Amino acid sequence: MFNKILIANRGEIAVRVIRACREMNIQTVAVYSEVDRGALHTQLADEAICIGPAPAKDSYLDIKRIISAAIVTGANAIHPGFGFLSENSKFAKVCEECNITFIGPTGEMMDKMGNKSRARETMVKNNIPVVPGSDGAVKDVEDAIQIAEKIGYPVIIKASAGGGGKGMRIANNKDELLHSFKMASTEAKNAFGDDTMYIEKYVKNPRHIEFQILADNYGNTIHLGERDCSMQRRHQKVLEESPSAAINDELRKKMGDIAVKAAKSIKYRNAGTVEFLLNDSEEFYFIEMNTRIQVEHPVTEMVTGIDLIKEQIKISNGDKLQYAQEDVKIEGHAIECRINAENPSKGFRPCPGTIDFLHIPSGKDIRVDSAIYCGYKIPPTYDSMIAKLIVYDKDRQNAIKKLNSAIGEFIVKGIETNIDFQYDLINNTEFIEGKYNTAFIENLMNK
Ligand code: ADP
Repeated sequence: MFNKILIANRGEIAVRVIRACREMNIQTVAVYSEVDRGALHTQLADEAICIGPAPAKDSYLDIKRIISAAIVTGANAIHPGFGFLSENSKFAKVCEECNITFIGPTGEMMDKMGNKSRARETMVKNNIPVVPGSDGAVKDVEDAIQIAEKIGYPVIIKASAGGGGKGMRIANNKDELLHSFKMASTEAKNAFGDDTMYIEKYVKNPRHIEFQILADNYGNTIHLGERDCSMQRRHQKVLEESPSAAINDELRKKMGDIAVKAAKSIKYRNAGTVEFLLNDSEEFYFIEMNTRIQVEHPVTEMVTGIDLIKEQIKISNGDKLQYAQEDVKIEGHAIECRINAENPSKGFRPCPGTIDFLHIPSGKDIRVDSAIYCGYKIPPTYDSMIAKLIVYDKDRQNAIKKLNSAIGEFIVKGIETNIDFQYDLINNTEFIEGKYNTAFIENLMNK
């Protein structure tokens, strides 16, 4: 087993990985930017190395500095967390060339899935259902119009290099497509340096259902059930739960088998997630595969009892999966709320600042993954997510009750947060009845 792992990340996910390493008796190295000197991950790791100034491009995204830190400290593996370099195939390849194990898939696997239009093409070849749309990327707006006319409006224009809901626009007719295509490709160029675009039929009011995959180096590939991530604002997840209220055992098996097939089609290894859109008629379509650990992984951990970070480390170490598909039992219900430093009454504007009072809920089956503490100054430089509140109970209704109690106890002072917004969401009758889709929040805000 590795004796030392460097965590190329910050915030709660860095802390999450450090904790898993500690339990496995693996030494840890934190890297931090100048503004993160006092951050929790910097303090918790066995060693910590400053890798540059606050802007991510000069620190958490700087491959040379991170590799140098690993070499200097003698770390023999790197965990990338999510975001930053986690889906950067060049980084995975450089790690390999430097004899440092990248905890995740190979760069080649990332390339196959990371480019979303190419992933679509691969899935089509392997008979995985995808949303009707362009075969791969579209050549130009004229090409997009032709395809849109064939599949019918509305369509959604998406960036091949996309992520985080960026570079995505809906078009209800040709005029909108002409206009939105330009907007979306400019946004994609600015965000990802790549304006390769593709289009899909816009599925009305779908559920976002994703399957957690684990695959070892010996061809063993399993899924750990689904997560329902339909609670979204601007195509970004806000709350996630497992299992989904929309999925029965039969559909779970059907979708799970296809998710495993999708992963197997590129001989995927390590942890990954296959994302689908599901409509009311139980038809589902692949939208993308994420080749990393995800923010919402804890809900799967709670219902399966499997520690996904430890599994990632073990797989990268060359261990065989200890579970076959039939060993995976999904029991009870888990819900996660993302707590962000933002102001819902001001358009969800990020609200960095100093936390001057903090009470974190606790109790049976209540988990808070976070890197904040009282007195912590949230820098304005990074993502606004400051904590994840996860609850587990024997069924969905009890989990909602527990979440209600826990969220009511969560007090953060000094900054604005979305805690009250989350409280309102989970007390909404339709949410309680499990009747929601990706349009839920938007409809609620327009009421
Ligand atoms: P990103 O990688 O930027 O997160 P995804 O392709 O995963 O983008 O899509 C994010 C969300 O956007 C989905 O969960 C869904 O709500 C919405 N979306 C994506 N594609 C479609 C589509 N074809 N029809 C309707 N909604 C879609």
